[in-house]
Amino acid sequence: MRTAIFPGSFDPFTLGHLDVLRSALRLFDKVIVAVGYNSSKKGFFPPEIRVEIIKKATEGMENVEVCSYSGLTIDFCRQKGARCIIRGLRTTTDFELESVISQANRKMEPEILSVFIPAGHEYSFISSTVVRDVLVNGGDAKCFLPKNIDISEYLKRR
Ligand code: ADP
Repeated sequence: MRTAIFPGSFDPFTLGHLDVLRSALRLFDKVIVAVGYNSSKKGFFPPEIRVEIIKKATEGMENVEVCSYSGLTIDFCRQKGARCIIRGLRTTTDFELESVISQANRKMEPEILSVFIPAGHEYSFISSTVVRDVLVNGGDAKCFLPKNIDISEYLKRR
């Protein structure tokens, strides 16, 4: 059974994240989407709501688990018996940041491999930051979010 972790802030989960997840499911038997949180960093949506949004967005998809974690991603991988970390790449900036993180992780835990998945061109400009900017300014972020997500419902509860 090949299990991978797809970690991220997912604040909130976008169509870009969904596209990376779909690609990862072609490579692995199971993908765990893991909301990484840091108790000292508040975020836009609390981790429980981020998890709820991802569960809704992945409703009906097989071989997907959604949860949250704090601490090192490699420790969480060990805990879940996962040998790969999935990260999405949009730009060369993403690549530079991600390669440094992956080297550090590899040094600490050589058994865990980072797997980079390129963004689909129609999603490569989408980021949670843009979505949050649209939302705080009262705009409609529907076109950046999975179809079945009514973000206003979650905004009321944050
Ligand atoms: P983090 O704060 O850990 O970078 P994000 O939620 O911003 O968390 O992103 C999680 C992962 O998804 C990262 O690997 C990021 O590069 C990737 N990602 C974000 N948006 C997109 C997108 N539109 N297309 C492909 N990958 C993306």
